[in-house]
Amino acid sequence: MAISTDLKCDVLVVGAGPSGSMTAKWAAKNGADVIMIEKRQEIGSPVRCGEGISKSWLADVGITPSSRWINVEVEGARIYSPSEKVMEINEKHAGNEVGYVVERDAFDKALAIDAANAGTTIHLKTHALDVLRKDGRVTGVKAKQFGQKFEIHASVVVGADGFESQVGRWAGIPTNLQIRDMDSCLQYRMTNVDSDVRYCDFYLGKCAPGGYVWVFPKGDGLANVGIGVQVSKLHHPAEVRDYLDRWIAQHPGYAKGKKIDMVGGGVSISPPIKQSVADGVMLVGDAARMIDPLTGGGIANGCIAGKICGEVAARAAKSGRTSKADLMEYDRRWRAVLEEKLLRNWVAKEKLVSLPDETFDKIIDVLSGVRLEKLSVLNILKAVRERYPEVTQEFENLL
Ligand SMILES: Cc1cc2nc3c(=O)[nH]c(=O)nc-3n(C[C@H](O)[C@H](O)[C@H](O)COP(=O)(O)OP(=O)(O)OC[C@H]3O[C@@H](n4cnc5c(N)ncnc54)[C@H](O)[C@@H]3O)c2cc1C
Repeated sequence: MAISTDLKCDVLVVGAGPSGSMTAKWAAKNGADVIMIEKRQEIGSPVRCGEGISKSWLADVGITPSSRWINVEVEGARIYSPSEKVMEINEKHAGNEVGYVVERDAFDKALAIDAANAGTTIHLKTHALDVLRKDGRVTGVKAKQFGQKFEIHASVVVGADGFESQVGRWAGIPTNLQIRDMDSCLQYRMTNVDSDVRYCDFYLGKCAPGGYVWVFPKGDGLANVGIGVQVSKLHHPAEVRDYLDRWIAQHPGYAKGKKIDMVGGGVSISPPIKQSVADGVMLVGDAARMIDPLTGGGIANGCIAGKICGEVAARAAKSGRTSKADLMEYDRRWRAVLEEKLLRNWVAKEKLVSLPDETFDKIIDVLSGVRLEKLSVLNILKAVRERYPEVTQEFENLL
C-alpha cells in the first residue's frame, strides 16, 4: 500500500545495499525503531558487481555463508602481468574480492531479510529527495513513493545510498571525488568461456590503465568478465568498453564466449573520506568512499562499517544525543578498523597506476618465483628489490 502520511522513526537508512542492510540490522538489534528505504523496486537488482568477496570478515559482522547466495568458492587469485606472466595467491591473502563468487542479488536480499527479521521496516520504490533540517541539523528526509511525496522524521539519518550518494551532499559533508580517484567499470556476464572455477583472475597493465580486467568464475562456463579504468585516463566514456572488447578479442577462451548481460558503474579509488558524520547524519559504505582503492572491492568494508554504524546510530537515537560530536564515535571506530589499510592501499595504487608494463612484468616475474610467508606490500617490495633494485627505487619510502 502506498504511503500517504508522514513517518517517524529512530534511525532512517537510505539505501538497501549491503551497507544499508547491515546498518539497519545492527541498529534494530540494538533496540532502535528502524526504517530503511530503497528507490529500486527489488533489492539487489539489477546487479552492478563482479560478485567477488573475501570470507574472513563475514563471521565478525554476523553473516552466515549460505548456498542461497554462494555461487562458487575459489581457492585463490591469479594475477597476470601485461606479458601474462602469472602469480598465484591463496584466498586468504588475495584481498577483498576473493573467496566466494556470489549471486549478488540473492546476497543483498539475504542481508535485507536479516535486517527485516531484526525489526527493520523496509519501503521499496521509495526515493529520498532531500534531507529535512531543523536548526541546522538533519532531522529526516523528504521522500517519494508512487508519485506521492511525504516526510520521514528520524533522530538519525544514515546515508547508505552508494557511489552516487546524495545524502552526504545534501547534509553538507564533502564527498566529491577527483576524476583520478574514480574508476569507470564495465562488465559482461559471459557464457561458454574458459574460466577456471578455482581462481578469480586479474589482468594488469595497459589493457586497463589505472585499473585491471577481472574474470570471476560463476561455474558451468559462465563468468563475470569486467574492467575498471581510471576515469582520468579515458578520452571518452565509451572507451572503457573498447578496452574490454579489445581484451576479450585478444583472449580466445573468452572471444568464443557470448555476452548475456552488461552492467556499468563507478567505484571510488580515493583516500579515506575526511568526514563521515554531521549533526543527525552518518554515511556508510560507498557513500562514505569506503571502497578499497587498490582492489575496487567495497562490500566487505561497507558491511564492517555498517555494523558499527548501526550500533552507534541506535545508541545515539535512543539517548537523544545525535550531534556531530556524539556521532563521532562511529567515525573513530570505523577508522580504527579500516583507515590504515585504505590509506596504505591508496598510496600503493597511486604508485602502481604510474608503472609501465615492463615494470609490472618484472614484479610479477619475481613474485611468481618466490614463496612469501605473508603477502604484504612490504614483503613484495623486498622480494622485488633483491632482483630488480631499480624497480623499487620509487617505493623506497614504503620499504
Ligand atoms: C562493475 C562493478 C563491479 C564491482 N565488483 C565488486 C566486487 O566484485 N566485490 C566487491 O566487494 N565490490 C565490488 N564493487 C563495489 C560494490 O558493488 C560496492 O562497494 C557495494 O555495492 C557497496 O554497497 P553499498 O551498500 O555501500 O552501496 P550500493 O550497493 O550501491 O547500495 C546503495 C543503494 O542505495 C539505493 N539508493 C541510492 N540513492 C537512493 C535514494 N535517493 N533513495 C533511496 N535509495 C537510494 C540504491 O538503489 C542502492 O540499492 C563493484 C562495483 C562495480 C560498479
